[in-house]
Amino acid sequence: MRGAVLYGPRDVRFEERETPKVIKPTDAIIRISATCVCGSDLWPYRGIQPIAQPTPMGHEYCGIVEEVGSAVKSVKPGQFVIGSFFASDNTCLICKIGYQSSCQHAEFVGTAQAPVLRVPLADGTLVPTPEVPSQDLIPNLLTLSDVMGTGWFAADAANVKPGSTAAVVGDGAVGLLAVLSAKQMGAERIIVMSRHESRQKLAREFGATDIVTERGDEGVERIKQLTNGIGADSVLECVGTQQSMMQAIQSTRRGGYVGYVGVPHGVELNGEQLFFAHVHLHGGPAPVRRYLPELIKLVWDRKINPGKVFDMTLPLDQVAQAYRAMDERRAIKTLLRP
Ligand SMILES: [Zn+2]
Repeated sequence: MRGAVLYGPRDVRFEERETPKVIKPTDAIIRISATCVCGSDLWPYRGIQPIAQPTPMGHEYCGIVEEVGSAVKSVKPGQFVIGSFFASDNTCLICKIGYQSSCQHAEFVGTAQAPVLRVPLADGTLVPTPEVPSQDLIPNLLTLSDVMGTGWFAADAANVKPGSTAAVVGDGAVGLLAVLSAKQMGAERIIVMSRHESRQKLAREFGATDIVTERGDEGVERIKQLTNGIGADSVLECVGTQQSMMQAIQSTRRGGYVGYVGVPHGVELNGEQLFFAHVHLHGGPAPVRRYLPELIKLVWDRKINPGKVFDMTLPLDQVAQAYRAMDERRAIKTLLRP
């Protein structure tokens, strides 16, 4: 088969790779229905997170089970399944309290931009849909593998409650789905920080009530103006830079919550500032597996349409163009079809 391999900054190739097969009895092999490029793929793509050797890419996936190892019990060939970017056993103590992305046996699933994928710990990782979905549901279901689950975790970690005020830092796909998640959890007011018209439009469609175009201290000031001078109850940080993290902490009211899901790059927090900010901080790699059953149901019942973040679809063999379009911000998120 052929799949995506990153060789260095802005050098993604679609090339021959070994077709995955069952290695351990707990593995499943799935035929990918759709995959995509993640905002976090852009860190190594841009050379900000250097790679040591040519690296297969992709960690968002859904598809049909082709084969399972002898120990797999809960999924079977022919089922349509979705899994997280971290395989988890879903039985250890950490999984049981809902932090499957930190499973004691977690394994990163990182070769999904390909037609066939090996998923370890299949019983714990993969969740089947009620039936094989119709084509129009596939983009929605694909988002549950990471981007939607991550936006949902941002809102959950930031303690979004019915009637509360949420602010979202970042208008990438995660930020936009954080808006949708905050809306779904009942936030009354949702402020999104965005400077891009097409993204503002989608944010409004997902439930944003206010747009803030200012950044840094001015952005913080603007959020305070919109929240009786005290800041938002919940701030959802979906970028991962020093500026976005500080913006998030400073836009949160005393006693409020910051949910941070942007993978941090060079973020350093000042202890004294943090002490007097008086906020709850909770974040990290989203425990997507925890949310899969609930989110699959919301998509299946057509209550949410997170797949709208895909504003570009390409055949998998054009994966290099998919990266380029996202790098140049011509696309919010690109879906790839094998
Ligand atoms: Zn576990």
